[in-house]
Amino acid sequence: MRYTQMLIPTRKETPVDAELPSHQLMLRAGYINQLTAGIYTLLPLAWRSVQKIAQIIRDEMNRSGAQELLLPMVQPAEIWKQSGRWDHYGKELLRFTDRKNQEYCLTPTHEEGITDVARQFIRSYKQMPINMYQIQVKFRDELRPRAGLMRGREFMMKDAYSFDVSYEAAEKSYQSMYDAYCRIFKRCGLAFRAVEADSGAIGGSHSHEFQVLAQTGEDRLLSCPKCGYAANEEKAEVKRTIVKSTFTPSANTPAMEKIYTGNAHSIDEVAEFLHDTPDHTLKTLVYLADGKPVIILMRGNDNLNEIKLQHVLDCETLVMASDAAIEEIMGSKPGSVGPCHISIPTYADFNVVDMHDVCCGANEADHHFIHVEPGRDFNVTKIDDLALAKEGDACPHCGAPLEAFRGIEVGHVFLLGTKYSQPMGANYLDEAGNSHPCVMGCYGIGVTRVLAAAIEQYNDENGINFPTAIAPFHVIVAPMLMKNENVTSTAEKIVAQLEAAGIEVLYDDRDARAGVKFKDDDLLGIPYRITIGERNLNEGMVEFKHRADKDNTKVAVSDIVDFVTKRVRDDLKLGI
Ligand code: ATP
Ligand code: MG
Repeated sequence: MRYTQMLIPTRKETPVDAELPSHQLMLRAGYINQLTAGIYTLLPLAWRSVQKIAQIIRDEMNRSGAQELLLPMVQPAEIWKQSGRWDHYGKELLRFTDRKNQEYCLTPTHEEGITDVARQFIRSYKQMPINMYQIQVKFRDELRPRAGLMRGREFMMKDAYSFDVSYEAAEKSYQSMYDAYCRIFKRCGLAFRAVEADSGAIGGSHSHEFQVLAQTGEDRLLSCPKCGYAANEEKAEVKRTIVKSTFTPSANTPAMEKIYTGNAHSIDEVAEFLHDTPDHTLKTLVYLADGKPVIILMRGNDNLNEIKLQHVLDCETLVMASDAAIEEIMGSKPGSVGPCHISIPTYADFNVVDMHDVCCGANEADHHFIHVEPGRDFNVTKIDDLALAKEGDACPHCGAPLEAFRGIEVGHVFLLGTKYSQPMGANYLDEAGNSHPCVMGCYGIGVTRVLAAAIEQYNDENGINFPTAIAPFHVIVAPMLMKNENVTSTAEKIVAQLEAAGIEVLYDDRDARAGVKFKDDDLLGIPYRITIGERNLNEGMVEFKHRADKDNTKVAVSDIVDFVTKRVRDDLKLGI
């Protein structure tokens, strides 16, 4: 492909509203263009890379025995009502009506669509296991679309759905997808990690996320260096030596006392005011669970894990109460609230059990109680595991201190069970003629997010530095003097020979200075560059360089095609 004929609208300036390197670089290198918030055009370079990622996914899905289909993107409300998600999905589901006033949505995920297929065509145990997948655009009206393709409103996903006769069989389908995902991300050349994850709004019993390791990643992850346990912070469990479900008040705590704490409102401010540490201060949070107030008590230096709380409360919606709501419920502003003399369902984290003689809000402006003894001065509805696990906490399996790292979620596998098959009536007949709901799994990969994540992992101050498997081209051929007949005819010969060997070449045929070409070529991130200059050519040589190398190496014109072809093929084999 000739550079002059391809749409590569590079920009000199770093776009001001792009924070992440991948977002900046994709805009600067002419990969993407924003149409409106969270909605992007994939320009030719990005589209080539995305198609390569999609092809690797397709290869490995097919290898695992899955079959490709294409489900409609516009779906009637009816099937979403049958699954129960029409009412629960929230505003990410973009809904609209057609000319006949029928309700529709743009699909954010396709469990309903595929379950509808299954209930019509899977009748017998003999038709399972079956796994169907598609690679298609999804729409989610994200509250905060960000970082270009990383969190778009319109984005491309590979989604697969397995149907099995039993949980035991579904576990096998799940494992086969887990293995396929490992092969996919390895072939894409990415450093990744599979971590235990929460099942979120899709529901189901267990799941793993595939996380591309990156300091800029949105997800906080924890792993055990000793036994290999790894989980999303939201899901991570912590080993507790003693688990108590009731308070044992200490007899040594003096009587509770109300004191004026002035402008000290946050946990840190109150601790400082009292010349104490945050772990002796009780954190009181007010939430609305399905609209009803609940109080959550945490040790001052712990943070609440909302997902764990939602599981404990078993509620559909959980939102933090607004300042106005807190004032109405507790009679005072946030910063002075506490659990004493209050009759609202109250939940405490396990760590509160070990606290004695604590300080908490007095439900009166600018006042706190001190010498508060849990179990004596207040009680709770339930004590449970509510704290967000953090670095240094004990691994749930082996007790070693957990390590923190960050990642970008590029894939997610769920064992769903019968969450959709049951309400939607996707049943099969067993050997004895009895009917059962199919046991499902679902498996997503954010295809466009993989591209962003790859750039996040592979970039330097000069631009992108793609793994060969997902680069838009393998090689860039850059003649240094377009006016020199010998230079251009050699370049064109090399391009033709490489292309004949199946190597994808971007031929930088611009009549531009060497500096301009090198700068742009580095920005684009194509792994290999062959530079053809007059002086070297007179000695029968060209220059060769990997994007990550500092210096060029000289290679004989007669050897360059074989040399580069071998390098590219080796990379693709190794998945670099
Ligand atoms: P997130 O927590 O990042 O919102 P999710 O849990 O909602 O992700 P899934 O429903 O599991 O995501 O979707 C499958 C995959 O699709 C994710 O692993 C991710 O790679 C990708 N994905 C999800 N939302 C987006 C988005 N807004 N933009 C780009 N890719 C996305
Ligand atoms: Mg999401």
